[in-house]
Amino acid sequence: MSSFYRVQCGCGNTLTLYSNSTKQVSCPKCGSVVAKPAGGHVKLVSGRILEASK
Ligand SMILES: [Zn+2]
Repeated sequence: MSSFYRVQCGCGNTLTLYSNSTKQVSCPKCGSVVAKPAGGHVKLVSGRILEASK
C-alpha cells in the first residue's frame, strides 16, 4: 500500500519517489537532495510532483 510519486528535479530529470521512503532521496543525475524522510513519510524538498499514484 505504498504510494509513489513521479517527481521532476530542478535539473529536468524525473525519478520515482515512494511516499513511505525512510531514506533521503537524491537525484541520480545532478545529486540534489529531492526528498527527506519525515516521520514515516517522505517530504519533498525540491523539484515538483508530476504524478501521484496510489
Ligand atoms: Zn537533478
